[in-house]
Amino acid sequence: MALYVHKYGGSSVADAGKIVNVARRIADVYDAGSQVVTVVSAMGDTTDELIDLARTVSDEPDPRELDLLLSTGELVSITLLSMALRNLGYDAISLSGPQAGIRTDNAYGRARISQVDPERLRHELANGRLVIVAGFQGLTPDEDITTLGRGGSDTTAVALAAVLNADRCDIYTDVEGIYTADPRVVPQAAKLSEVGYGEMLELAAAGAKMHPRSIELGAVYNVPIYVASSFSDAAGTLIHQSPDDEQMEDRIKVTGIAYQTNVAKVTVCGVADKPGVAAALFEPLASSGVSVDTIVQNTSADRTTTDISFTVTTDDLPRALREMSSLQDAVGAQQVINDPTLASVSIVGSGMQNTPGYASRMFRILADGGINIDMITTSEIRISCIISQEQAQEAVRLLHRGFELDDDG
Ligand code: ASP
Ligand code: MG
Repeated sequence: MALYVHKYGGSSVADAGKIVNVARRIADVYDAGSQVVTVVSAMGDTTDELIDLARTVSDEPDPRELDLLLSTGELVSITLLSMALRNLGYDAISLSGPQAGIRTDNAYGRARISQVDPERLRHELANGRLVIVAGFQGLTPDEDITTLGRGGSDTTAVALAAVLNADRCDIYTDVEGIYTADPRVVPQAAKLSEVGYGEMLELAAAGAKMHPRSIELGAVYNVPIYVASSFSDAAGTLIHQSPDDEQMEDRIKVTGIAYQTNVAKVTVCGVADKPGVAAALFEPLASSGVSVDTIVQNTSADRTTTDISFTVTTDDLPRALREMSSLQDAVGAQQVINDPTLASVSIVGSGMQNTPGYASRMFRILADGGINIDMITTSEIRISCIISQEQAQEAVRLLHRGFELDDDG
């Protein structure tokens, strides 16, 4: 018997009517003879509202308490969905993350799943039940509730699909799949029918709306992930291992354009140019949970001092600046400056490896559009430029057209 994991995001369960709609979709899959485990997010903007509520009583809410509070959002949606299924005559049961056997480390607000004990899930499935699991939450070894980080329900779903050896993990959302660029920015963007894990990871990390850790997990456990709309029956996008026969020359093109507008740059000026300085700066950032993206170190003319610049999300900027100012004296830095008005724009495509010319073409397109490049980074299948926030959407449109992705059909 086929087993599917379905995941429905907050917009798909935003109100009672939508929850009943989701219940019907799950019932249809069950009626067609499959087992289904469904992971849901909190209804609509519930998580944001709970965070706002916490901030009304505390400037810096305690991380343990905040996670326990946030976990309630998903408890509301799983129980309602289970009730809706029962109302339609199906045997459904809702389980919190801990009840579903999801164990995490104790990094509140960004916990990582350490293991999933699938015994309860298997037991309920064996009894012919539809199982509804709360996304985004787990239990520490000390039995405290954690959350996995914003958007973490995708990761819950793929983790369950991996341990249950599901045939597929379906992520249902309010868009019809993964596009060559954000369709709200580029109306000519085309829906991808399939995309490799590596490419999707770059697209997800660079702005498309999926939890990047879910793609990583999918790649490691080889879980096919299907992204589609919960509001239509239109075909979505399959994220999977790209078949080898497609690594042919006709794949040599850019797959998509991604962007992020919440980029801030920090520059530590005039630090000593000697071993250990970069480690001294970045180790404290890592341990305070700030994830650093682009890093540029300039060679100094006099070979005694240098400037180190790096980017973080604007959310992480206050923490990054706090760490830097407490280190400023230790590393002998002259000053720390920052710019919170930046964006990153990326071209992504596995066909770019070993093919020269993509970077220069990207820089030419941006230059012709009058867009200044602040920093540049590359991976094997991605080239990213840091530019001003104001020009980000224009850059996406220019690159989409320049790399011949516009769908004029
Ligand atoms: N409800 C959580 C959030 O809004 C988790 C999720 O939606 O995946 O971030
Ligand atoms: Mg959400």
